[in-house]
Amino acid sequence: MWTGWWLWSLVAACSADSFRDEAERIMQDTPVVDGHNDLAWQLLDQFNNQLTLEAANLSTLASTHTNIPKLRAGFVGGQFWSVYTPCDTQNRDAVRRTLEQMDVVHRLCQTYPQAFLCVSSSAGIEQAFQEGKVASLIGVEGGHSIDSSLGVLRMLYRLGMRYLTLTHSCNTPWADNWLVDTGDEAAQSHGLSPFGKLVVKEMNRLGVIIDLSHVSVATMKAALQLSQAPVIFSHSSAYSLCAHQRNAAGVPCPLPNKTGSVVMVDFYNDYVSCRKEATLSEVADHLDHIKKVAGAGAVGLGGDYDGVTRLPVGLEDVSKYPDLIAELLRRNWTEDEVRGVLARNLLRVFRKVEEVSDHTQTPEELPIPLEQLDGSCRTLYGYSKAPSLRRQPGLLLAPLAPLFLSLSSVAP
Ligand SMILES: [Zn+2]
Repeated sequence: MWTGWWLWSLVAACSADSFRDEAERIMQDTPVVDGHNDLAWQLLDQFNNQLTLEAANLSTLASTHTNIPKLRAGFVGGQFWSVYTPCDTQNRDAVRRTLEQMDVVHRLCQTYPQAFLCVSSSAGIEQAFQEGKVASLIGVEGGHSIDSSLGVLRMLYRLGMRYLTLTHSCNTPWADNWLVDTGDEAAQSHGLSPFGKLVVKEMNRLGVIIDLSHVSVATMKAALQLSQAPVIFSHSSAYSLCAHQRNAAGVPCPLPNKTGSVVMVDFYNDYVSCRKEATLSEVADHLDHIKKVAGAGAVGLGGDYDGVTRLPVGLEDVSKYPDLIAELLRRNWTEDEVRGVLARNLLRVFRKVEEVSDHTQTPEELPIPLEQLDGSCRTLYGYSKAPSLRRQPGLLLAPLAPLFLSLSSVAP
């Protein structure tokens, strides 16, 4: 009997290893492209973005979930680095903060050229795979980063933004966030406002992936209906398994199935198990669930590393992805399905977004109505005389008339 147990353990250990070996074999040529990592925020928070400080050395940095050796061990071949600035920067210095976080991503590539290759296209990701580097892309997390300006949206695109999360955890003047669904914030746009719809149209025209993590269900529906290209949830899990409104709420997930969109599963314990603790196996349950309801082509990975404080046992840092892939193989996912989860599903969405983009089309120009802007840090240039705005109901601009008069008398 004892011998039997010994043999059983040996067989179990061998097969466990073989799944892990198989995962590594697959990941050699199809590495992970992860949808969301907050290393850039950690660089700001811990080092005020000073990459040359010895303590910030990414070859040895131990205070984060992400460093270069861990990325290598985890077979990470592509990463959308989250360019995140908190909601309290809205109507204040959001644009400056956004630019600085984009700058730090570009400087990562400059400082560690052997490890990171900054790219901004699906072909660029494949190029980085070939070179054995981490394709480094920029995902801007929160519509407040564009400060309600299509001009800013376009310039962020030029600087490398390839997805924009329509909101973070606050409404923008043009899109509602998930806290509207919990009742913690009042609905404002009831999805997307007319200006929000212009933002989505302009993102399609430019070739910026629409990211629906963090948005309200009404915003999800409005964006899915309007977008000409598939979308992503860059870091959300399955609502049916953990009823948290940050998950792909109300979706799970007939819409992605129809649109070819991808839900990139978040590893944050609170979204995985709705408890403080979670396990790798519970994360695999989310992948299984999305596969069941929307197909294996709708599944991706958006670990949320360095943006969260609690991670599942077995997925403690970015070196652990192969263990998750081994678990999928153990659960009879095919090699093709696994390659989809790793990178191909995201690449398919990205290519489609690039295909839909059309830089010959005239850019959207209509500014957001002045009365929809909050905050006292903003000047009002352009709003007093522009014909499109003069056509709008006079009463909305009337209270500001004295201000316009004083502005026009000051401006040379
Ligand atoms: Zn987030």
